Order: sequence, then structure tokens, then C-alpha cells
Amino acid sequence: MARPLNVLFLSSEVEPFAKTGGLADVSGALPQVLKALGQEVRVMMPRYGSINDRKSHLHEMIRLKDIEVPVGKKSHPASVKSSFLTSVHDKVQVYFLDNEHFFGRPGLYVHPESKKDYADNDERFIFFCRGVFESLRRMGWAPDIIHANDWPTGLVPAYLKTMYRHDPLFKDTRTVFTIHNMAYQGQFPAASFVKTHLPPEAFSQDGVEAYGKLNFLKAGLVYSDAITTVSQKYAEEICSSEEFGSGLQGVVASRKKHLTGIVNGVDYTQWDPIVDEHIPHRYDVRSLDLKVGNKKVLLDKMGLPFDEHVPVIGMISRLADQKGFDILGNVLDELLKLDLQLVILGTGDKKFHDMFERAAKKHPAKMAVSLTFNNSLAHLIEAGADMFLMPSRYEPCGLNQIYSLRYGTVPIVRATGGLEDTIEDISGSSGTGFKFTEYSGADLLKTVQRALAAFANQSTWKKLMRAGMAKDFSWEASAKKYLQVYRSLARK
Ligand code: ADP
Repeated sequence: MARPLNVLFLSSEVEPFAKTGGLADVSGALPQVLKALGQEVRVMMPRYGSINDRKSHLHEMIRLKDIEVPVGKKSHPASVKSSFLTSVHDKVQVYFLDNEHFFGRPGLYVHPESKKDYADNDERFIFFCRGVFESLRRMGWAPDIIHANDWPTGLVPAYLKTMYRHDPLFKDTRTVFTIHNMAYQGQFPAASFVKTHLPPEAFSQDGVEAYGKLNFLKAGLVYSDAITTVSQKYAEEICSSEEFGSGLQGVVASRKKHLTGIVNGVDYTQWDPIVDEHIPHRYDVRSLDLKVGNKKVLLDKMGLPFDEHVPVIGMISRLADQKGFDILGNVLDELLKLDLQLVILGTGDKKFHDMFERAAKKHPAKMAVSLTFNNSLAHLIEAGADMFLMPSRYEPCGLNQIYSLRYGTVPIVRATGGLEDTIEDISGSSGTGFKFTEYSGADLLKTVQRALAAFANQSTWKKLMRAGMAKDFSWEASAKKYLQVYRSLARK
């Protein structure tokens, strides 16, 4: 049998400690499944001010204090705290890199009120990436694999291949870099580069520079030993055009041989209506009739009238350009003339907050919005809605459409990235939802009308619900693919 691998999983957000989107769901689940597959896995993330030591059971580690981490002209002290991930299988240790100056604030990347990026995000995540190595040195622990995720951890592969290359501790350490979203790159002015202390030649076309700026994501793409992304379709898309590659399509294409698409799984201990602690009426495929109780509670909560025969369309999303709200906005009035109700949960760009607030005021019996981040409400929407809408412009994987399948909440999606890979249109033999291809309000509207027509025939509709509920997106199959990637790199 192959020996267990030592894996350090790095992420800027990990459920249940800190979350803005799907990266947290992945980071909270995948390490536990890898551990259950026999690997020695630990996680490291920043210790944000929003994390409560007592609630999250953080404890100090006596030996891991006053670690010096140079950023720019100064050296900053780091300490490491520890807790555990416990939701799925075996406990996985989580390290929290702590520095009050950089992370003792409520937001992860942006100021919660102004919604503006923190002005020192360059220094904050240089500190994190460099702090990873300085902490490992203090621990004397050399992982076989460091698995870095998204731009905040992008400098880690660059540090390993340059500044820490001759450190004997890391001589067998290899890096995997996962892209959860190509559009968020961590771009900073060229002047930020000196703060990294990387060798000057790294600020070049073959290194961390892109379009004259320091680019964290590019660092991850160039210096990692293997790259993965979160669906096969998105793996193709990001190599193919500016639209998906956001300017780095050439860089990913040049590493295509080292790129693998691995679809995200679902943590069914959290997202399954038969065990969901956030919903009033638990159900599964054998007790489907109980679902409607959740619909009633949802509509009451959102202040909408309840009628069993009127389908409710749910949306849960970061309110960002990527998610298709512009095409929805184009046809929102027309959509709300149809026999349906719309429930939206999201936070993000002010322009979408304004748009949805206006529309909800105008159509008080048909549409309700909650412009908050609310995990319990997210679960109730999954359980209470009849349909789930994701009209994304692009979608690396997308999780809510997969959650929706298990809740019997039929997805209506645009055929891009992970939405294309995980949902089959009912026109095919094994349909689970409704898909449209053209990125337009007209296509969106037509597809919703198609779903309404199908809903009118409840026996066909129930069949469609059951087909989705039977799908299995457990993490195990995807975790095994990650393990294959790790094994292809690790010392035998
Ligand atoms: P992305 O990572 O692009 O935001 P995903 O579909 O991969 O999109 O993952 C989104 C995750 O964040 C899901 O778990 C979803 O339920 C959650 N989420 C998004 N917005 C909110 C919100 N306003 N309140 C609660 N959960 C949210």
C-alpha cells in the first residue's frame, strides 16, 4: 500500500470558521475526506477578527509564538492557534495564522461597510504566504504536498521555488494550486513586489508579473507543480479566451499538461434535507410531500403570500457581475408578470442591491429579497423553493445548483463551466433541470417559461425532482482525483 501523504491545505476561507463563497465549503470538506482516505492532512488559514476563539475552540500553541515574518521593510510577529474540522469524518487540525495588525478586522478581503478592498491586501496575503513557511520551519514539519487555493495563497508556490528552494526541510515538498475563480487575481501595483522579498528576476513575464503588476494568481499558475480547477468545462474555458481567462488564458494554456479539472463535491452532512438542522420540515425522496411545509415557512418569513400551486424560484448568491444579474435585470419586470414568486438572498455590489430593492418594492407579492449573508436562510431557500436559478455569465463550478438537486429544487442554469457539467437539460434522456446557452435575458425568460410549463404537470415534475435527488456528488470520487494528482508529484 502507498504510504500516507502529509498534506498542508491552504485557504483564505474555511467553513465553519470564515466564509464568503464556495471556496469555504470546499476547504471545510475536502481535507476531511482526504483524511478519511488515509492521508495526514492539516489546514492553515488566517485568523480573522470575526473568528471567535471560544465558539470556534481555538487554542494557543506554546511553541508557535513570535515567529518573525518579513513583509517589506518590517518584520511582523506571527503566532499560530489551532482548532479542528469535525463535520464529516476524522478530525482535521486547522492552524490559524494570527497577527492582529493584518487580520484583526471583521472582513476577509473587503471592509464590511464600504465594501472596498482593504488597502493593504498585498501585505496581508504576503504575510500569510510567507508566514506559512516560517511557521512550518518553527514546527519542523515538511509536508509532501502544499495545496494552495486561489490568489490569496498564490505566492506560496513562488516562495517554495525561489527563496525556500535550498531549505533542506522542503526538499521533497511539492505544490498543487487550485483555481476556484480566474477573475479574482490579487493584482497590485509593481511597487508592491519588493514587499515580497522574492528575487528581482521573479518580477518578469515568466514570473509573478502580469500587465505591469504583481499578480498573485499568476504566481500560483507559474510556480506550482500541478494546477487544478473545479470543473472540466471550466478547465477548457480558462485556456480558451480572454472572457474566461481574464487575461491569463495564455499562462494557463502554456501549463495545460499540468492542469486537471476536478468537480467539487457536496458535504451531505450539511446539505441534505433529511439531516438539515436549519429547516423546519426534513424530507427525502420517500417523503417529498413534506417539502411544501418548508415553502410555507420560507414565504411567511419573506413576507410573501403562500399558494402551493405558484412555483417559487430561489437564488442565493454573491451579488457580482459574474452571476448573471444584468441579464436578469433586463427581463425582471417581464419575469414577474409570470405566475411565479422570486426569493433572493445575496450581498455584494451596490448596484444589484439597489436593483433588487427597487423591484421588491414594486412587486411586493411576487418578489422578496434579503440583502444579507445568512447561512440558515440559504438552507431554508434550498428546501422551500421549487426551482433554483443560476444564470451565470461564467461559473467555475457552482455549488448551489448541486445542493438544489438533493433538495428536489429543480435548477435553471446557464450552460457554462460547472453548471454545464453538473446539470442535464430535461430534453436529454436523464434530465435534472433546465439549461440555456445564450447569455441573454430573452433566453433566460424562455427557459423559465419552459420550467413553468413543466411544473404545471405535477407528475412529470415529481419525476424530475426525484431524478435530481438521486444524483450523488459526494466528495469521495473527487477527493480520490486530488489524491492521484498528489501522488503523481510526491516522492515515492
Ligand atoms: P461562489 O463561490 O462563486 O460564491 P458557489 O456557488 O460555488 O459560488 O458557492 C456559494 C456558497 O456561498 C454556497 O454555499 C452558498 O450557499 C453560499 N452563499 C452565497 N451567498 C450567500 C448569502 N448571502 N448567505 C448565505 N450563504 C451564501
